[in-house]
Amino acid sequence: MTDTIPVTSPLLPPLEEFLPYLEEIWKSRFLTNGGNMHQALEQALCDYLGVQHISLFANGTLALLTALQALGVTGEVITTPYSFVATAHSLLWNGIKPVFVDIDPVTLNLDPANIEAAITPLTTAIMPVHCYGRPCDTTAIKTLADKHNLKVIYDAAHAFAVRDEGGSILRHGNLSALSFHATKVFNTFEGGAIVSPDAATKKHIDHLKNFGFQDETTVLMPGINGKMNEISAAFGLLQLKHIDQALEQRKAVDTRYRTLLAELPGIRCMEPNPAITSNHSYFPVMVESNFPLSRDELYHYLRQHGILVRRYFYPLISDFPMYAHLPSSAPTNLPVAQSIASKVLCLPIYPTLEYKDLAHIADLLFQAGKT
Ligand SMILES: *Cc1c(COP(=O)(O)O)cnc(C)c1O
Repeated sequence: MTDTIPVTSPLLPPLEEFLPYLEEIWKSRFLTNGGNMHQALEQALCDYLGVQHISLFANGTLALLTALQALGVTGEVITTPYSFVATAHSLLWNGIKPVFVDIDPVTLNLDPANIEAAITPLTTAIMPVHCYGRPCDTTAIKTLADKHNLKVIYDAAHAFAVRDEGGSILRHGNLSALSFHATKVFNTFEGGAIVSPDAATKKHIDHLKNFGFQDETTVLMPGINGKMNEISAAFGLLQLKHIDQALEQRKAVDTRYRTLLAELPGIRCMEPNPAITSNHSYFPVMVESNFPLSRDELYHYLRQHGILVRRYFYPLISDFPMYAHLPSSAPTNLPVAQSIASKVLCLPIYPTLEYKDLAHIADLLFQAGKT
């Protein structure tokens, strides 16, 4: 085995299937500014995801930034340290102070039991993350938000196509922000979106993502350039034709890992939640203390053997220098998140990951387990 196996690999349909879309764009000479591809993808995503209103963005970070602007969020926002750094960066870029709250050891998402104690007179919103696409306790978060009159913006970057018993989990909160980055389950090379609950909110967001323009001569607010271009939107339309198969393939990889790793002491897979339609976007395992190698030793061992595992999410966001000084970043405030960040390892998962590669990864883990 000389080739390396990446932690993820983008869903990339056959190139010849994309050429007709490019011909259409060339013919129209319409490259961005909400053209046909952009409009068609917004509608197609509403239909596919089962939501009412979507605004496409150039990336997920701009979607988060704009969601905060749209709701006029200021002051302090309660969020999770166990995420990709863009979650908290979107707060700093809006001049908002992040307040980190510890996570639940099962869902790895914001623990609602810890939220209330972190609310101050300056708190205006909660920004939870559906980490690895595993849903937050949306009911408890809604109860708290209603009680304290707080907005809720879900960072749903991992949560494409995830459903709970009531439908798409993107319906929860005031807004949900998605990422269509190349590494995500559904990609438009770079891209993102905001799911809005009503047409008026979508319209406001659409103004915000286009410099604040209402029409040729009217600027309503200081907006940004957040628009998705026509080539990315066209790629999204093509990608949608392949997404169901890709999700099935991911599910098969997930199932095989669970079977292969079931008898390996010290490597703990995450409990599946039978009430959820998962997107199998990641395959995190916990390297427990009874495994002979530490998490970092196993990380280096696998990488030396060409398996490019990643430590998502280590370090915690709260440990990065622009956050570490905050009182809520103290490791004693975040014991569960600190512990999970020290144990987690994300194994490769993507639609075209072959069974022989999976078996090879499992073999290496068993060999490491015998050292
Ligand atoms: C990927 C990601 C983002 C950022 O999305 P981009 O499209 O890369 O800007 C934000 N939050 C989380 C949790 C992510 O994983």
